[in-house]
Amino acid sequence: MADCQETLNELHRYLDEELSADRVEEILSHLKICSDCTEAYEFHAVYKETIREKAQRDELSDGFLDRLKECFGTEIPPVDESDDDSGDGDPSNN
Ligand SMILES: [Zn+2]
Repeated sequence: MADCQETLNELHRYLDEELSADRVEEILSHLKICSDCTEAYEFHAVYKETIREKAQRDELSDGFLDRLKECFGTEIPPVDESDDDSGDGDPSNN
């Protein structure tokens, strides 16, 4: 059975679906009995979802992304913007 520290340490990996099935089960069984970790889990899950949506709408500043990387201890994968081919930058747009 995972303890709180372990659960919190693996939370972002769990959300990224990087954990083995065994670890996922341990995390989930801990969440069932621990409201503190459940809260942390929900916070991270909602946060991550919000970030994903915002990133897709291009609402994130560079500094904000840097803070997020620190928060999650991981790189945020770049958003695929395959329909953006309007040119290579506009220096006059200030
Ligand atoms: Zn806990």
